[in-house]
Amino acid sequence: MYAHRHAIVLGGSMAGLLAARVLSDHLEHVTLIERDPLPDENGPRKGVPQGRHVHGLLASGLNQLCRYFPGLRDALTADGAIIADMAERVRWHQRGAYKARFVSGYEGAFLSRTLLEQHVRRRVRALPNVTTLDATDVERFSWNEEHSRVTGVMLRAPRSLTTPSLDADIVIDATGRGSRTPAWIEQAGYVRAPERSVKIDIGYATRVYRRTPDDLPDADAVIISAAPPTSRRMGVLFPAEGDRWICMLGGWHGDHAPTDPAGYLRFAEGLGAQDIHRIIARAEPISEISTHRFPSSRRCHYERLQRFPEGLLVLGDAVSSFNPSYGQGMTSAALQAAALDRLMRDRRGRSLDGLWREYFRDVARVVSIPWDVVSGEDFRFRETTGARPPLVGLINRYVGQVQKASSTDPVVFTAFLHVMNMQKVPQSVLAPRVAWRVLRAGLARWGARERDATERTHAPVHDGRARPH
Ligand SMILES: Cc1cc2nc3c(=O)[nH]c(=O)nc-3n(C[C@H](O)[C@H](O)[C@H](O)COP(=O)(O)OP(=O)(O)OC[C@H]3O[C@@H](n4cnc5c(N)ncnc54)[C@H](O)[C@@H]3O)c2cc1C
Repeated sequence: MYAHRHAIVLGGSMAGLLAARVLSDHLEHVTLIERDPLPDENGPRKGVPQGRHVHGLLASGLNQLCRYFPGLRDALTADGAIIADMAERVRWHQRGAYKARFVSGYEGAFLSRTLLEQHVRRRVRALPNVTTLDATDVERFSWNEEHSRVTGVMLRAPRSLTTPSLDADIVIDATGRGSRTPAWIEQAGYVRAPERSVKIDIGYATRVYRRTPDDLPDADAVIISAAPPTSRRMGVLFPAEGDRWICMLGGWHGDHAPTDPAGYLRFAEGLGAQDIHRIIARAEPISEISTHRFPSSRRCHYERLQRFPEGLLVLGDAVSSFNPSYGQGMTSAALQAAALDRLMRDRRGRSLDGLWREYFRDVARVVSIPWDVVSGEDFRFRETTGARPPLVGLINRYVGQVQKASSTDPVVFTAFLHVMNMQKVPQSVLAPRVAWRVLRAGLARWGARERDATERTHAPVHDGRARPH
């Protein structure tokens, strides 16, 4: 027996699908509304232009998805996805060295974004109490007379409805970065949530290649990070179903990869390591080069509002859309959906009034982790402008040491993976057990540099005589 009758979820991408899945446990009926026609098959669509680009699913995101969709992991693997340990099977080059390779227990998924969404969508559509209205645009919220509560939505171009309005006990906005909630609540007399943005002007250029087993015998994927502040370029080569590589070459602040094949290869050659260039220089390209521009990370601080309409929540990129290069967006959405699930469970049988306060508090905790990590990294570039995190220079110096130590010390790399997977707050890398190892690795690198310098000084010169002091 459900205490609440109807939920409406706006947006049928990853955040909306997850919200619909979670709410199907707590309300009699859920209606998922999506502007695009939703295909049954695996393919790109207009509302998710990033779907053509590389989309790694972090281990904690994969775990959440498998929790809500049992059997998903096997089904993805059967369709050609690769599920692999993020430390053992990834060649990750950062700060002049490859990360340590060992079994970390963090298994991420490598597949196309469209295949993942297709699997999740199919499972949500199969839920008996979820109805999907695709090719249906939401025009605005409907309100009670006092405008204290959102009571549903007004639709444009309703496909199979006789009435353009739908009522609900709760409406979830998962319409992504272009969410209209700030404008719609402002029109109803509310204050907009304070917003923070960080300007990064990242450009992605993606090309798909045929993948063969000899391409990368000792790993499944390659990441070559940028080396701020000097090099603004990065590259990612992830496997995908159908024996394909999805190659993404990207850069900050306008340093974007060219879209002609020769220029694309030259850009790959200019990365901090040669793995990607070596593979794509001889692999068969099977797509054009497609681009995506990401001007800024953006966060709406709904948790800071004193007043907010009852019956409305916001989830996913609509709350925070951040630099995608750490691959945390879908995991963030999954953890936000899990927070909603927990709160709905706590409220079972009770009114949902005031839920927004607890919900936005919990969502802010989820979002703060990736936000702090990526915006900190972004401020290593002098050109980055916007909401600067406090003490960012100091923190970045320490995080830089953590990143370097991750190439020799599995304990340090694991601490870093905890944060990247949003399992622990960024401050956890300051724990004495980790900090001591970071220091020890720094001293070892310093010692090695000193030894090198001494050896160079005492090395015989080419004519066989010792170099004079
Ligand atoms: C280039 C790029 C690369 C990325 N790489 C990764 C990665 O490697 N790993 C990762 O985890 N994340 C990645 N992300 C982030 C990830 O794509 C998002 O976090 C994820 O899709 C969740 O977003 P969302 O569902 O909140 O919003 P979106 O994916 O933007 O979806 C919003 C949905 O709402 C619909 N909609 C909008 N307005 C309306 C309306 N008025 N009525 C009805 N429907 C509407 C849209 O059609 C769309 O389907 C990347 C993002 C980008 C841009």
